[in-house]
Amino acid sequence: PAPVTGSLLDGLDEDQRAAAASDCGPLLIIAGPGTGKTRTLTHRIAHLVTERGVAPEHCLAITFTRRAAEEMAERLASLAPEQAEKLTVATFHSLGVRILRQQHDRAGLSADFGIADQPRQLAMIAEITGDVPGARRRLRELSRARRTGAADELAERYTKALRQQDLVDFDDLVAVPAALLAEDEALAAGYRDRYRWISVDEYQDVDEQQYRLLRLLAPPDGNLTAIGDPDQAIYSFRGADVGFFLRFQEDFAGARTVRLDRNYRSSAHILRAATQAIAPSTLVPDRELRPLGDHGDALVGLCAVADERGEASFVARTIDQLLGGSSFHSLDSGRVSTDGTQGLDFNDFAVLYRTDRQARAVMEALTQAGVPFQKRSHDRLSERPGVEPILAELAFEGSGTALERVRRAGDVLIERGAEAAEIHSAVELLKPLAAECGDDLARFRTELALGVEVDTWDPRADRVSLLTLHAAKGLEFPVVFVIGCEDGLLPLRWPGEDGDDFAEERRLLFVGITRARRHLYLSHAAERSGRAVRRSPFLADVTEGVEQLETVSRVRPRETQLRLL
Ligand code: ATP
Ligand code: MG
Repeated sequence: PAPVTGSLLDGLDEDQRAAAASDCGPLLIIAGPGTGKTRTLTHRIAHLVTERGVAPEHCLAITFTRRAAEEMAERLASLAPEQAEKLTVATFHSLGVRILRQQHDRAGLSADFGIADQPRQLAMIAEITGDVPGARRRLRELSRARRTGAADELAERYTKALRQQDLVDFDDLVAVPAALLAEDEALAAGYRDRYRWISVDEYQDVDEQQYRLLRLLAPPDGNLTAIGDPDQAIYSFRGADVGFFLRFQEDFAGARTVRLDRNYRSSAHILRAATQAIAPSTLVPDRELRPLGDHGDALVGLCAVADERGEASFVARTIDQLLGGSSFHSLDSGRVSTDGTQGLDFNDFAVLYRTDRQARAVMEALTQAGVPFQKRSHDRLSERPGVEPILAELAFEGSGTALERVRRAGDVLIERGAEAAEIHSAVELLKPLAAECGDDLARFRTELALGVEVDTWDPRADRVSLLTLHAAKGLEFPVVFVIGCEDGLLPLRWPGEDGDDFAEERRLLFVGITRARRHLYLSHAAERSGRAVRRSPFLADVTEGVEQLETVSRVRPRETQLRLL
């Protein structure tokens, strides 16, 4: 039995503690945003290895992004400093690489097989199909088909071509190890013996191949802890299927289920808005989001603006105002925050949007207002301008000296006139990775090909964060703006697309709303990119406890100008 006092688990509430201290066997933690799922997961692992005598080598924690894995590893290092080194904290893909490196010959690969990056994949598709302009679309379709296990002739030829060049692609990293384990029971048993305690965060977002791999690693009576929130399933466009979460009980008979409903993150207003927003398509009908904290004058503001520039300046002004930077109060409602200005820094603010291009107007307005910001980027590092020539150069050198040169400097690396600036900034981006990989050039290349994102976003930097709704998953901020709450944008609708299954778009709004701790602003414009737009139908559901902030909605600068002319 778990020690009652002086335990790591003291940092958890009763329900969380029950989950963290739960005995062997499959466990499903199903809970809403901000209820401490991730916190419970890390405490559970730390508790197992420090207080229950589980060998850290036997623990495997899986998350979806490299960033989330890093964060989890950090938290574990502080909770269980002595054991942390020996724990495996991985993404599905890095786990797959690990298995593939160990079992490469079974997969018909050499020990130092490569991972095809996107340009390489596109070139191969174009060569097979003879369709250069359509390659991108075909690759998307192919990737989706393979992830959901529906392979066709193109997929077969493409895979064959990959193997001939001693390559795997990103999808293979999970699918091939799963196939190897499925074929060979003894091999699977070996891995099951190694990873006896497995935990997966954000389980609502697993796809078919990840699920397969997991099933092979975790027997029906195994120690698998799955954690998630079906209402935050937002990756079906990449093949994720929330159905795997929903049938956990069937897959793992006798699984224990724990629910957490105390929300440690958000104010009551925000939780009410979130509940209303998700209600029409919730997958967890009897769930409650109970607020815990006292957030003073917490506010949910609904803001109508003229256009993207009006929206951006609303964001900039509101930040300025909440920081106490300006003497005037620009909201028409005349509402002056009494404690809202206290204790906020730039990094307490996040601006969330559905599509990356929405960030531009906001960046302009923040720059003009002198507000420091950082945008979380999703470009793959390997696809950034300047990276490729550096890699080509490195290929000619011994690994030690090559990476040493990246670590040391950019400007002496390659002198190439016009490209110098690009190369210089690419070196800056590569430096941290070079430092991490030491002299191991092969690892450096693997990490790059694994799709290391240009994620220079630093949660500790004192800057306003600009993120897509997808990138904001799992994070929290005292003040959140969800911009562009418009029909066609949230829900996002591509031209010519019909369909009325907007459940996932609604979940995205839910994810966005629930990132906020104290203040939430939802804005929508009357016109975007010069076109009249309507507010999001989702906003009609978010009514209670919401304050209508009228800002510049009645001023249409463009028309005014025209009339003057
Ligand atoms: P999401 O669904 O958004 O990923 P989550 O359920 O994983 O949310 P966490 O990020 O683990 O939630 O926790 C939300 C916030 O609440 C964090 O700031 C966390 O530190 C805090 N928190 C959770 N549980 C407790 C607790 N028992 N005591 C104090 N703070 C807590
Ligand atoms: Mg979480």
